[in-house]
Amino acid sequence: MNQVVLTGMVLSTAPVGEYDRRVVLLTKEHGKISAFARGARRPNSPLVGAVNPFAFGEFTVYEGRTSYTIQSANISNYFAELRSDVTGAYYGFYFLEFAAYYTKENNDEREMLKLLYQTLRALTSPHIPDRLVRYIFELKALCINGQAPQVFQCVKCGDRERPAVFSALKGGLVCSRCRENVPDGIVIDKSTLYSMQYIETSKIEKLYTFTVSDKVLEELGKVMGRLMDIYVDKKFNSLEILETLL
Ligand SMILES: [Zn+2]
Repeated sequence: MNQVVLTGMVLSTAPVGEYDRRVVLLTKEHGKISAFARGARRPNSPLVGAVNPFAFGEFTVYEGRTSYTIQSANISNYFAELRSDVTGAYYGFYFLEFAAYYTKENNDEREMLKLLYQTLRALTSPHIPDRLVRYIFELKALCINGQAPQVFQCVKCGDRERPAVFSALKGGLVCSRCRENVPDGIVIDKSTLYSMQYIETSKIEKLYTFTVSDKVLEELGKVMGRLMDIYVDKKFNSLEILETLL
């Protein structure tokens, strides 16, 4: 057996047997992996706090032929603020579930891990509304997954000048001349479009540095709702719970 140190975040955890846990980790080195945490449910286990969702840090694991076993952990951020904020916690669970759905083992998931970390930090900040954090996360996750909508020019003719609508079905802007047969075109404010352009081009570290008017927040919600319906064919449990809390 081979011992390695992995940097990552706990996405989910489930009890196994009497005292153990199975943990899903998103790691810098090996993408999304599943690992056993032996004895993690014994009250005096050093792994008790380390294998909870949101915990981020270094995990020392044994790499077996077919599975990983967590030996110890050095957690640098528990995102403990989320424990006293039910709505915030469910936004957080939604981001974890979303990331788990989008990532794979032995795939380079460093961008998604970075996005997740910055998103949880933004969620614990009082300066950005949770809804805005959600829309920024969703749009950037689509970009990381190679599904960025076209927000700079008409998807059909490339025009950058003519008034345009946003079509989730067509995957971006459609100009006034190409608008025929685009039934789902939504007129959006320039500021909403600018926000989307910023989210798509900004570095992950700089994503959560702006806020928007209520009108822009509403429009972003509408656009992201349509995009999620089309691009993400999955109902997230945490999102369903979150919606009952809002
Ligand atoms: Zn066009």
